[in-house]
Parts: sequence; C-alpha cells; structure tokens
Amino acid sequence: MNIPEGPAQLRAKNTLRHEVRYTALTAVVGLAMGAGATLLVREGLLPLASDPLTLGRGLFEVGLYIFLFDAYFYALHRLLHVKVLYQRIHVVHHHSTSPTLWTALAFHPVEAVLIMGFMPVAMFLIPIHFVCLVIVSLFLSGSILLAHCGVEVFPRWWHRVPLLNWYVTPGVHEAHHQRRDCNYSATLSIFDRLFGTLRHE
Ligand SMILES: [Zn+2]
Ligand SMILES: [Zn+2]
Repeated sequence: MNIPEGPAQLRAKNTLRHEVRYTALTAVVGLAMGAGATLLVREGLLPLASDPLTLGRGLFEVGLYIFLFDAYFYALHRLLHVKVLYQRIHVVHHHSTSPTLWTALAFHPVEAVLIMGFMPVAMFLIPIHFVCLVIVSLFLSGSILLAHCGVEVFPRWWHRVPLLNWYVTPGVHEAHHQRRDCNYSATLSIFDRLFGTLRHE
C-alpha cells in the first residue's frame, strides 16, 4: 500500500530538487572559470610564483590566502544578507535551514561567480606557488563541504579550546542557516569575532 507523502516529506523533496539543480549550475560555472583560469596561466597572463619555495614562504602564502578569502567572503556574505540581494541572490543558498552536503554548493550563479572569482583575482595580485594554491583550494572547498555536512563531527570540548574553536564547524554554520543574523564566516571565525556576529549554539 502506498502511503501518501506528508508536507514535511514534500518540502524535503522540493529542497533536494532545488539544491541538486543549483549545485549542477555551480559545477558548470566552476568548470568554466577553472578552464578560463588554466588558459590564462598557460598564456602567462595569470602568473604563478616560480622562485624556490621554502617552508616559511609556503606557510605565509597559504595563511595569507585563507585570511584574505575569509575577509572577502565575510564582507560579501554580509552584503548578500541586505534584503534586496538576499531576495534576488542569496536566498538560493538558504532554501534549507538544516544544511546537507547538497546545500554546500547550491548557489545562485552570480554568487558562485563572486565566490570563485576570488582566486584568479588574488592570483593576479599576489602570485602564489602552485602547491600552495592546491593546499588553499583543498582547505577552502573541504571546509565549505564540511560546514554543510549536517552532522556536528567535532566534539563538544573543541569549542572550548582557543584557536581550535576559530574553525567554522557544521554546528556553527547551521546556526547561520537557522538564524540568518550570525556566523557569516566561511572557514575561520576571525571576522565574526571582530564584528561581534559569532554565536555558538
Ligand atoms: Zn551555508
Ligand atoms: Zn547566508
């Protein structure tokens, strides 16, 4: 016997359909931008650092790029919560109040371009070594996926340890999806702390 679906199940199905569609769009935008950036690197228009890489220099490049991305993302994210931009663009990402991995890349194409556009612009302004670029890309994309995994994989004590608790965990980001007025940071909560928008539920 077929049991008719309830409103909650229908809503969940709708959200999943919405997120899969926008994740596919983000993938297309990402592939196009990645191909464009690769072409620019090959043509020498987007320079990669070529001087010998030391451990100190590598740590500096990785740290600087993550810091700059977090600063940029925080400002962009605050802006996207201004009513008109929220309703036209950012609402796509806020379809679900309890994010899953499908939420992680569900962005309006304009938001996807603005987020992924950071890397080529930063590379143009501050040349980075290829290996550092790979580490930064893995850290940023891995953190964004983890923040939306829907399960608090970090133990409770994690939030009491200074510096460790600067990392944006799934619970911290889920609070953003539920309240929409806090926890705007992407990977590290530096700017939420600086501007008083960090909430630990
Ligand atoms: Zn999110
Ligand atoms: Zn948001």
